[in-house]
Amino acid sequence: MNHFPLFADLKGRRVLVVGAGPVADRKIALLLAAGARVVVGARAAHPRVLARAHAGEIDLRLGEFNPAWLDDAWLAIAATDDRALNRKVSEAAAARRLFCNVVDDPELSSVQVPAIVDRSPVTIAISSGGSAPVIARRLRERIESLFDHSLGALADLARRRRPAIRAARPGLRARRAFYDWLLDGPVLGALRRGRPDEAERLLDEALAQAAAPPRGRVLLVGAGPGDPGLLTLRGLRALNEADVILHDRLVDAGVLSLARRDALLIDVGKAPGGRHEATQARIHALMVSHARQGRCVVRLKGGDPLVFGRGGEELQHLRRHGIDYEVVPGITAALACGAYAGIPLTHRDHAQSLTLATAHRRGGACADAEPESGRTRAYYMGVERLAGLRAQLLAGGLAPDTPCAIVENGSRSGQRALYATLENVENQARRHAIRSPALIIVGEVAALGRELAWFGEILDGEPATAATARLAAA
Ligand code: SAH
Repeated sequence: MNHFPLFADLKGRRVLVVGAGPVADRKIALLLAAGARVVVGARAAHPRVLARAHAGEIDLRLGEFNPAWLDDAWLAIAATDDRALNRKVSEAAAARRLFCNVVDDPELSSVQVPAIVDRSPVTIAISSGGSAPVIARRLRERIESLFDHSLGALADLARRRRPAIRAARPGLRARRAFYDWLLDGPVLGALRRGRPDEAERLLDEALAQAAAPPRGRVLLVGAGPGDPGLLTLRGLRALNEADVILHDRLVDAGVLSLARRDALLIDVGKAPGGRHEATQARIHALMVSHARQGRCVVRLKGGDPLVFGRGGEELQHLRRHGIDYEVVPGITAALACGAYAGIPLTHRDHAQSLTLATAHRRGGACADAEPESGRTRAYYMGVERLAGLRAQLLAGGLAPDTPCAIVENGSRSGQRALYATLENVENQARRHAIRSPALIIVGEVAALGRELAWFGEILDGEPATAATARLAAA
């Protein structure tokens, strides 16, 4: 072990910072947050540091470094860009047996300041022993993404209730089991939902019982359109908490690979043309039975779970059966396809409204087609119904030269984007053998993708149409 890790209690203790630039200011802010009495010595000070001095937050000494600045200090930090001066500070500190950190200079430092994840009162510190700060920073990012701020609130609650927990669970093993329940169970969920009172009540109820009852729950999570980078941080955390993951076929393997290794993965995808109602009933039954056995169930859906995903019906089912749930939104296909095909879904000059529609409706009727301009329409589940959709939009009064785009496998490595017009879109889609999943975007903005596209393959064998010419003139 290169360095011995310590957490220092600096409350009310004097710390000397030499240097008063932006780097020093970041250290000053951290030291103040830890309650230290900060003395800053420098030849000149950055306005932010001056402002702190004026506000009485720090004691600022302007001038050449003077070892007497170290009087009564418990720690010294050198943060100047003058290495000779940093060395002087480090040596003066060492002469007094004082620890000194020189920012980004392990050779001159007798202590290192780790990268931290702050979930006060929980603090996670990471050090690479000065060998490669970038590794520590990377780790920090990963850890930041794993724990949200409810962890701090939970630790606070645990601290306040520690005597009560000790009294109700005198045995070590029972107490440990209780803390496990606290970390995995509904208390953290209540804090995350912004309901601290409910969290306290749940904790008290559980303490009053002989053993904490298992309480399962369902997290309805949007996996985004495919690219794992488009999963939300909260979605990633849910995947790391899951005991069971019920996922759709649309969910990318790259997203599934981020899940906790020992989570049980169940593919509950509906095959096209399969028996949808039977599969939906199975999904409902699986969610309820796993949750009733005390498991954390993640119901993982492509895109956003409440946009054309029957997520609403699943929540209604859970509510009817008294199962706790949370919903984590995801990036829906329309947003991802717009972004990845260079199509701004709204644009000051071309589109003031956006409709998310399905080309697939109960009873078969297609989406409306009032021909008002300035509107972007994004159609889900439309590839197989393209002929009907096109006919209906034309019959509804949309011009044949209305720009259209079809984005197949949006945001995935195999993305293809076809730029066409309402007139020729069906022929073009057939010519290029466009397959599901694909999103159809209709409206003036679809033409902008021809110039703004930046990702994937572009299918555009057509000469510029009247519509794009009109756009260019606008
Ligand atoms: N809940 C999902 C939609 C489910 S419906 C969401 O919010 O995105 C399935 C339809 O979504 C597909 O038929 C297709 O039209 C669209 N879709 C989903 N992922 C897609 C992707 N990566 N590229 C293009 N379209 C996609």
